[in-house]
Formats: sequence, structure tokens, C-alpha cells
Amino acid sequence: TDINNAGPRQTAASSELFRRACEITPGGVNSPVRAFRGVGGEPFFVSRAQGSRLWDADGNEYIDYVLSWGPMILGHAHPAVVQAVTDAAQRGTSYGAPTESEVQLAELVRDFVPSMQRVRFVNSGTEATMSAVRLARGFTGRDMILKFEGNYHGHGDSFLVKAGSGVATLGLPNSPGVPAELSKLTLTAPYNDLEAVEEIFRAHAGKIACVILEPVVGNAGFLPPDDGFLHGLRRITEADGSLLIFDEVMTGFRVAPGGAQERFGIVPDLTTLGKVIGGGLPVGAYGGRADIMDHIAPVGPVYQAGTLSGNPLAMAAGLAQLRILRDENPYPELERRTRRLVAGLLANGAELGVPMSGGSYGSMWGVFLAAGPVRTFADASGSDVAMFRRFFHGALQRGVFFAPSAFEAGFLSTAHTDQDIDETISRARDALRDALA
Ligand code: PLP
Repeated sequence: TDINNAGPRQTAASSELFRRACEITPGGVNSPVRAFRGVGGEPFFVSRAQGSRLWDADGNEYIDYVLSWGPMILGHAHPAVVQAVTDAAQRGTSYGAPTESEVQLAELVRDFVPSMQRVRFVNSGTEATMSAVRLARGFTGRDMILKFEGNYHGHGDSFLVKAGSGVATLGLPNSPGVPAELSKLTLTAPYNDLEAVEEIFRAHAGKIACVILEPVVGNAGFLPPDDGFLHGLRRITEADGSLLIFDEVMTGFRVAPGGAQERFGIVPDLTTLGKVIGGGLPVGAYGGRADIMDHIAPVGPVYQAGTLSGNPLAMAAGLAQLRILRDENPYPELERRTRRLVAGLLANGAELGVPMSGGSYGSMWGVFLAAGPVRTFADASGSDVAMFRRFFHGALQRGVFFAPSAFEAGFLSTAHTDQDIDETISRARDALRDALA
């Protein structure tokens, strides 16, 4: 590869772990992006984390902007979260019977996101979106769904569909193992293209159970919604009797306390959550209009269940994290620092003559190595991936861990200080200069 791992950073211990991991686990990882295929080279193995920092098996320290891909909004190993999990573990780790903590967390979630009149906990974002779509289909009696190019909703079969060319393209399976018969039911449109959505609804009137989207996209890099896009989706779905599902697994508690729906003033029918809601433990949730949610078992006929759902350790971690967010309201400060970071990274590009664009909402942010504006997945695909790989590794060498892909959002935590940000901008400038060579 073109990656130069020479330099002060030691990698022998991570390399040896990766070798062992590859013998026993496909690609050496339990989730593909961790293998660094998007940037080349080998992943580091984490040994511990605290606040804004990660340390790897070789003792290298990194300022972390991945933050477990979003959950760690208070930084790593926040004392209140660690204490809550420790206390909960003393009382037992799973019961298969309800607990007060599930009621408390559900009520707290509804306080943050009032459109979630009823809340059901699951164990991951994937489970949340799969369940929400099943519910939408069960509630409407319709089979088709509409999603957007470059939006990721976890690895449920119905979501592993990419758009073909044209506006109202029937889905093509993105992954072997997904039956083509099922993929056909997933329609796709370009993000931020309201006309395409209108055309699809004209062609399939009364047949689309739901529109699901990332209201601010993080899985194609950071793509904000155009003015009027989200309101347009609300209008179109309502007129057709289709449900609008905001997948706020990433944006929830991130772009605003009440997620994108608060920030943009939209009331979706259903919402999916994950990441921040679990404080770093495995949790997802879906919820929304009571009359829809009451179609779920045991009240209604739409089946969904889970041995570990509402797990007491996960509930304790989520409660501790959300209570701090509620009581300390770090949002204005998080937003200010995130803007400083993005402005600094863009200024590096301007100084060095590298075309860059980027933005942020709350503590979710992204930068493309492409002249903006980047509004769609197609725009994002035009960014300079080869330069990104060099930039990523240059930053890593200098102790800054950005997402190992040109098409992922970054995050910030309350543990990231202004000094961390200054340090990051300065190291990123050096990494960008080297990436030019
Ligand atoms: N939805 C969105 C918007 C996500 O970003 C993700 C994960 O990155 C998911 C769903 C899937 O969540 P999980 O990885 O917890 O299954």
C-alpha cells in the first residue's frame, strides 16, 4: 500500500493481535469498518480509554473522534457511567423480567424526544430499524419501503440495497444472501431529492409502508438536509398514508438534545435510537405514535422480542449518560467546540490549497476532501479518497484517530477540551501537508 507506517509509532503488539484475530474471526474484526479496509494498513487494538483519549496495545495515545462510532458523548469511562454500571452489576446482570430502570429510561427518552409516546428497547440500532420497518409494514398493510442512497440503517436485509441509476429504481441487492424478492420491496432515491421522492410516490401510490432516513446523514460522510427536504418528506408521506421513520441512531442526543426532529421541527411517526442512548453498552430503541406502537406484541399482532432487551446494565449506563445530558446541558458548548474543530480543519485546507468542505450539527461533524457543496452520496463519492487515506494515516501517526473512512461522520465529546481541538487542528495540518506530497 501507499501507507507509510514507519516513524515513532510502535505497532508490534497490535500487529500480533491482528494476526491472531484474522485466524479466528473473519477479517480479524467483529464489524467490518474496524479492519481499516477503507484506508489500508492494519487496525490498532485498543487496551483502554479515558475521556477524549484511547490507548492501544503498544501504548500509543490517540485523541479519539470516533468515540465508538457515536455513543461516547461524555467521553470514555465517564465516572458516573462506570459507577452506574458497576452498581447495577452487583445486583445481577440479566433477569428476563421487567425492572424499574426500563421504565425510568423510557420516560427519560420521551422527555428528550416527545414524539416517542411509546418506547420499546432492543439491543442495537439494527434491531431498532428492523423492528420499526416491520411495525410500519404491519400497521399499514403495505410491503414497500423507501430509503435514500448512502443512508445506513444497520444490516437488516431490507436495508442492504443500493440505488441503481435513474430516479425510481427498484432495489438491487448490495449483499449476497439478501433475497432479490425482498430487495425489490426497497425503493431508493437520492438524498435531498424531493422530486425523486414525489415521482416514486406517484408510481407506487398507496403501496409504500414507510420512508426511513437519516435526517442528517452520517454514513455517507456528513450530509445535512437541504432546506425544506425533511418538511417535504413529512408532507408527502402524510398525504399518502405512509409512515415517516427518522433513524436517529446517530443524530439522537447529538445534533440537539431531542435529535434532528427537534432541530428541524418535524414530528415523525416513528423514531429509532441507538448509540448515545446506551452509554457505550448495547442498546437500541424504537418508538413513536401510541396508536402505531400499540400494534406491537403483546398489545398487538406485530411480533418483536429479546432475551436481553432492556438489560439492566445497559439501562443503567443509558440512564447515567442521559441524566447528565439533561442536568448539565452541554449542548451549546459541544456545538461551539465542534464548529471550532471543523473551521480549523477547513482552514488547514484553505491554507494548503486543498479543496475541502464540511460542516456540523451539534457534536456530529464531517469534512470531505472535495470542493462543496456536498449534498448527495454521489457528490460525496467525488471526494479524494487516495488523499484521505494518506491524511488519515498521517493523523494516526500523530496521535489523532479520525474515522477510518472518507465516508463517515466524526463526533465530539464533552471530554474534548479546546486544547485538544487546537492540538488536533495543528497535527491535522501537518498530516494534510504530508498527504499532499
Ligand atoms: N442507523 C444508523 C443511522 C446508524 O448510524 C447505525 C450504525 O452505525 C445503525 C442504524 C445501526 O446500528 P447498530 O450498529 O447499533 O446496529
